[in-house]
Amino acid sequence: MNTILQDLHIHTVYSVGDSAVVPQMTIDFIASLEHADIRGISDHFEYLQGEIFETYRHDVRAHGFYLGCEINTGEETREAVEYPYDYFIYHCRDRESEYRGAEFLVSTGKPVIISHPMAMGANLARVPRECFIEINNRYIWRGDYMNYFSPWTGEFNFVFGSDAHQPNWLNQTIARKAAGDLGIEESILFPKPTPAGTR
Ligand SMILES: [Zn+2]
Ligand SMILES: [Zn+2]
Repeated sequence: MNTILQDLHIHTVYSVGDSAVVPQMTIDFIASLEHADIRGISDHFEYLQGEIFETYRHDVRAHGFYLGCEINTGEETREAVEYPYDYFIYHCRDRESEYRGAEFLVSTGKPVIISHPMAMGANLARVPRECFIEINNRYIWRGDYMNYFSPWTGEFNFVFGSDAHQPNWLNQTIARKAAGDLGIEESILFPKPTPAGTR
């Protein structure tokens, strides 16, 4: 039993253009750390299009992880839904096109996690209520989270995530502290996987 139940926001070497990702951050290495019961890999969608997708999918599945991606814009949602992801993580900025992108992702029926909405400037009044709102370790402490999230704690379901980049990698200490301050309980999106290779 891990202290972290679920971590669906993890970046790896597949995020090739992300300057906060280093060569040691392989899926193999993450698998060996066993830091959470339910884990998903969510590299940036812009680096997963075309041929590389099959390599990524195989690598993620071979280690028993859920298959996700992080989508940067409303326009990218159109292409992302063509791939067999288990869930989507989405940057929702305060723009009409980005709220429409969130609605489009929700229409797939797959879980949609709004990543670090305070850092992106999302207006939660305009985010579809079916979305899960992320409290993430990388960004939560950088703003007035009590003021931003308090009106919405009863409106949405929430998930906690690392947004794992170096140096503060694979950790939810601050996210969990902030969620505790807000009285938020975590939604668990997937069953705990059976050992690698059997699903
Ligand atoms: Zn992000
Ligand atoms: Zn991220």
